[in-house]
Amino acid sequence: MSNYDPSLLEQWDKQYVWHPFTQMQQYLREKPLIIERGEGSYLIDVEGNRYLDGVSSLWVTVHGHCHPELNRAIKEQLDSIAHSTLLGIANVPSILLAKKLVEITPPGLNKVFYSDNGATAVEIALKMAFQYWQQKDGGRYRRKTKFISLVNAYHGDTIGSVSVGGIPLFHNIFKPLLFECLHAPAPYCYRCPLSLERESCKMACLNQLERLMEEHCEEVAALIIEPLVQGAAGMITAPDGFLRRVRELCSKYNILLIADEVAVGFGRTGRLFACEHEDVTPDLMCLAKGITGGYLPLAATLVTDEIYRTFLGEPEECKTFYHGHTYTGNPLACAAALANIELFEKTDLLASLQSKIELLRRGLNKFWDLPHVGDIRQRGMMVGIELVVDKETKEPYDIKEQIGHRVILEARKRGLIIRPLDNIIVLMPVLSISKEELNRVLEIVYESIEAVTGK
Ligand code: PMP
Repeated sequence: MSNYDPSLLEQWDKQYVWHPFTQMQQYLREKPLIIERGEGSYLIDVEGNRYLDGVSSLWVTVHGHCHPELNRAIKEQLDSIAHSTLLGIANVPSILLAKKLVEITPPGLNKVFYSDNGATAVEIALKMAFQYWQQKDGGRYRRKTKFISLVNAYHGDTIGSVSVGGIPLFHNIFKPLLFECLHAPAPYCYRCPLSLERESCKMACLNQLERLMEEHCEEVAALIIEPLVQGAAGMITAPDGFLRRVRELCSKYNILLIADEVAVGFGRTGRLFACEHEDVTPDLMCLAKGITGGYLPLAATLVTDEIYRTFLGEPEECKTFYHGHTYTGNPLACAAALANIELFEKTDLLASLQSKIELLRRGLNKFWDLPHVGDIRQRGMMVGIELVVDKETKEPYDIKEQIGHRVILEARKRGLIIRPLDNIIVLMPVLSISKEELNRVLEIVYESIEAVTGK
């Protein structure tokens, strides 16, 4: 039990805290859940109640909460130094981590630029891609200033990353603030934008992307994509081969490929990085979330030598990349990231994941029987269960119904924390979860959907 009076904490939370991505009027009506501790796959609240963590905090936890080795790595670093800037000087953990990241990411990504969260990793990739073309070959490509992204993309909440985003609910209000971005159709096969069937479409949506590239290649700097799974759009899983084809098209039309692996990186899809599934090396790669195993804020943007080289020059040539945050390359966070990567190797986590991914797949099969489950999408340890009013017509629930929110409140009563994306129930279990715990997650989600939408 907490040292603090839970009811006082509740009162102060409601009085002082404005929660992100949260309609506060609704939040203020409900009893807040205040987490105090974590243990492996569990979160424990101030009243001592234990909950399975079904979404890895915010899609970040890898080896479990309060892992002794991650704790130790951070404490050891704390005894040396907590922070030292990377602006013009170096620190030990950031060097060791950069070397490690270059070794474990797809070949060809040889330089690491640090920041603190997914949105900044993306922001940096966009600015680097832009500046690259301004500088390359004496400015021959200066017209390449635009970006392509997919419909329903999500790349973070800063203005640059929102500009390449495409989720109307989150982004429409900010439109007057954003720069222009071209959008290509996403492979949302359940609701195909071209009204085709996944089995026979031959990824026709890619023809539209190719037409867009053909028409605009002289003015497009880069295409940004969430490899294999568009997370915040509702776990939209791309067909096999989609990413590889996007890579080929980018090369054909001289457009840089930015892989936003913020959500899918660090084991989420069953491989360390999603790009590995299709042997793709992007020109720029954004990492965050799982990079520290879910411990501390850290992000990295990796680039090829070709990109890095164009930034080299004498100070007066103005080729410097003028971007840097105060806490960039923070030693505590880098120490956590090193310990996280070491644990992947020590515990052979990726090998043990395969049978859990299979267990999840088999467990989810049963969900098709529920009358309001329209689609189930899974890639590795990422799952989206789309709830619909009518399976035949695929009619979505009205936002007023708050169907996803009602399901997660049911799950909470049964000891599971999950967070929906509108009508889509998301599961992102901690990667180190046991099979027993995973079975319990599935049971609770099934019962909770049933309790809200009927048998
Ligand atoms: N890119 C993707 C694909 C994401 O899923 C997210 C966060 N969910 C971000 C970028 C932004 O990361 P952050 O919240 O750390 O800024």
